[in-house]
Parts: sequence; structure tokens; C-alpha cells
Amino acid sequence: EAKARGRNKHVVYDPSMNARARARLRRENDLRRAIEREELAVYYQPKVDLRTGSISGFEALVRWESPERGIVPPDEFIALAEETALIFPVGRWVLEEACRQAKEWREEYGAVGDDLSVAVNVSARQLQQEQGGIVEEVERVLALTGLEAGCLHLEITESVLMEDVPQNISTLARLKALGVHVEIDDFGTGYSSLAYLKRFPVDGLKMDKSFVEKLDSDEESAAIVEAMIMLARALDLEVIAEGVETPAQLARLRSLGCDVAQGYHFGRPVEAMAATGILDTVLSRR
Ligand code: C2E
Ligand code: MG
Ligand code: MG
Ligand code: MG
Repeated sequence: EAKARGRNKHVVYDPSMNARARARLRRENDLRRAIEREELAVYYQPKVDLRTGSISGFEALVRWESPERGIVPPDEFIALAEETALIFPVGRWVLEEACRQAKEWREEYGAVGDDLSVAVNVSARQLQQEQGGIVEEVERVLALTGLEAGCLHLEITESVLMEDVPQNISTLARLKALGVHVEIDDFGTGYSSLAYLKRFPVDGLKMDKSFVEKLDSDEESAAIVEAMIMLARALDLEVIAEGVETPAQLARLRSLGCDVAQGYHFGRPVEAMAATGILDTVLSRR
């Protein structure tokens, strides 16, 4: 009996660890195979310039179209990709695909299309890879696709920027020197020091949707949004609102002087072909 208990003890501890490790390895292999089988897809969500009312560009958002699991959202595999370095092939592929698509749209549509930009999310590991690898990557993809640098926006989550400030300032400066736009994503959630904020060479602040969400129900959130817009103004940064879902939120953002908005109110992220369909309804082809 003692022997059995002893064995049980053993069973409770080690094999469960193994099970977890095995599950993780399986998920990692699934993701690696998904990349090889080209099951990743870039979806595009419109961004609307509130000054003109027209589409200023799209945010590229990756999806995994799994034959077994259906459409898997990035929250379910980006963290794993970051832990396993699979973020490098994933990030490279999204960047190339988004830039290629943006170039195609710009060639296909007229005057308004000339301003059309694409925003790509850059993860912590991509930003912090050694020797400014992300800078060379972006330079290579711009050359490969022929997309004008000013039409590529890179979104970097606020919390990531605070991890290694001097290094990130230098990487951002090199990205900006290429001519790409850099935006701080999920702004308001990352506790960035306002003193650092003015030293980051960025072009825009993207306010987190958690503030936008409560804009029409909670006066404190409205006050924070107003303060963020004033801060962006003072630092001469463009200010973007994500997660705009209602006409009331939009009206409020407009009256506060927000520059650009994005959210289900305007459109959900959709496949490239559907995004082209949206452009067709608002722009005329060349
Ligand atoms: P994010 O960059 O902050 O993107 C905004 C997220 O909010 C997207 O979720 C988008 O679909 C969702 N969203 C847009 N409008 C609304 C709205 O009106 N209401 C609500 N409730 N949600 C809205 P998604 O596509 O699931 O992406 C989640 C996160 O995954 C992104 O957050 C981004 O951090 C990351 N991600 C997505 N694609 C990539 C990628 O290619 N590379 C990297 N590194 N990260 C990515
Ligand atoms: Mg983003
Ligand atoms: Mg965001
Ligand atoms: Mg967000």
C-alpha cells in the first residue's frame, strides 16, 4: 500500500509536468506545420481618418485558418510564437504579405489610394532581436514589395517599449530613418513614463480600446481619453482610437479631436478580398 501511495505521489507530480510539456510541444509543432502549410492569413481592418471621413488604411491582423480548429485568433498563438521564436517566420510572413497587398491596392486605386497605408503589429521579440534585425527586415521587405516607406505603419505595444528604453529608442530612430511610421499600440495600458514618451521617436498614439469602450458610459474614461488626445496634440503625435463600436463613441471622439478611428462600427477585420471590396465601394479604380 505504501508502495502504491509512493507511486501515486510520483504520478501526481512528474507526469503532469510531462503532460504539460508534451501539450506545449504539440502546440508548437502544430503552429510550425501551420506556417509550412501556409494556413496563416492576414485579415484587414479599416482605419478611418476622422478629418476627411475616408479610409486612411488598414491594420493587418493575423489569423490561423486551421482545417481542424477553424479560424484561430492571434491571442491563441502569438504568445506561443514569441516563446518559441516562431514569431520570426510568422512576423516576416505577415510583413511581406501586408506590404505586398498594400502596394497592390495603391497601384489599383486612384488619388485617395495614394495615401493608403497598412499597419503591421511588431512583437517584443521582433523589436528586440539583436543588431536591429527588425530594421534590416523592414528595409528588405520594402525593397522586395516596392511599397513606399511612408505607407507602412508599425504598431508596437506600449509595455514593450518600456522594457529596454535606450535600445528601443535607437531601434525606433533607425526605423523612422527608413521613413516608416511608428505607432504606440494599446496606449494607456503600459504605464509608460511621460518623460520617456517624448524621447521615443514615434508618430502616433493608438489609445487602447478599454478606454474607448467606456467612453459613452463612464465620465472618468472620457476624461482619460480627452487627456490622451491633448497629450498627443502637445507632443505633435497623431492620435488613433481602436475599438470604436458605437455612433456615440465616434461622435465623442470626433468632438475631442481624435484623428483616426478603427473598430467594429466601421468594419471588422476581413480577408484581403473583402477589404478590396470595401475599397471598391469608396474609391474608384485607376
Ligand atoms: P491589437 O493590435 O491591439 O489589435 C486590436 C484587436 O482588437 C484586434 O484583435 C481586433 O480584431 C480587435 N478589434 C478591432 N475593433 C474592435 C472593436 O470595435 N471591438 C472589439 N472588442 N475589438 C476590436 P485580434 O485581431 O484578435 O488581435 C489581437 C492582438 O493580437 C492584436 O491586438 C495584436 O497585439 C496581436 N496581433 C494580431 N496580429 C498580429 C501580428 O501579425 N503580429 C503580432 N506580433 N501580433 C499580432
Ligand atoms: Mg495593433
Ligand atoms: Mg491595439
Ligand atoms: Mg489593443
